[in-house]
Amino acid sequence: MIAVIMGPPGSGKGTQADLLFKKYGYLKVSTGDAIRKQIKLKSSVGNLAQDIVAKGGLVPDDIIFQMVRIDLEASKGKMVILDGFPRNIAQAEMLESLNREHPVTGCIHLMVDHNVLIERLSGRRLCPICNATFHIHLAAPKLAGICDKCGSGLIQRDDDTEASIRVRLEIYNESSAPIIEFYKSRGIYFAVSGEGDQSDIFDEISAIVEEMTG
Ligand code: ADP
Ligand code: ZN
Repeated sequence: MIAVIMGPPGSGKGTQADLLFKKYGYLKVSTGDAIRKQIKLKSSVGNLAQDIVAKGGLVPDDIIFQMVRIDLEASKGKMVILDGFPRNIAQAEMLESLNREHPVTGCIHLMVDHNVLIERLSGRRLCPICNATFHIHLAAPKLAGICDKCGSGLIQRDDDTEASIRVRLEIYNESSAPIIEFYKSRGIYFAVSGEGDQSDIFDEISAIVEEMTG
């Protein structure tokens, strides 16, 4: 059983997916995390994807789908929250082809204003060691540039540059509309505002997944 969480870059999908894991045990399958892991490992997939990701483009559908399939097979029978996939209509159809074994029960769409996204992404900083995330203004670490949790130096994601942010938002705006229609036509589309307090947003998402799972 799969719940899809979609939303523009910076909408907080990953954070909300983590919260769904903590509260309900949903396994998070994140294509962004998976591809960054391959890049770090310098695998053949990672090497192929590195430039594409840094520039804000999309990794080819078949490569991404292959990764998703492997993760879904490994989590068979469990509840999965799918973060970052599908990202275009071709991917939505690929996912649909697995529907017998891995039915999608809902698509939760986190909606956030364009200017808020730019602010969130351009100030985002991460810890490369423990993966904690910060923001230079909105969630500043106690010491500038240093991780509160483990003391490592914070970094910026390669694709959180102004040019790549612009590309990512453009691609999102073009490719998300057909996905929304796709899930709307199946009666499993749920829109949620991704602005405001994180725990309020999570309460709304919790209500949706509880309704979804009956
Ligand atoms: P964001 O939503 O903030 O852009 P993600 O971590 O979901 O970040 O994805 C980062 C990058 O990984 C994307 O910009 C893209 O290059 C690649 N990627 C992730 N998921 C997909 C996907 N489903 N299809 C193609 N490329 C993907
Ligand atoms: Zn850290």
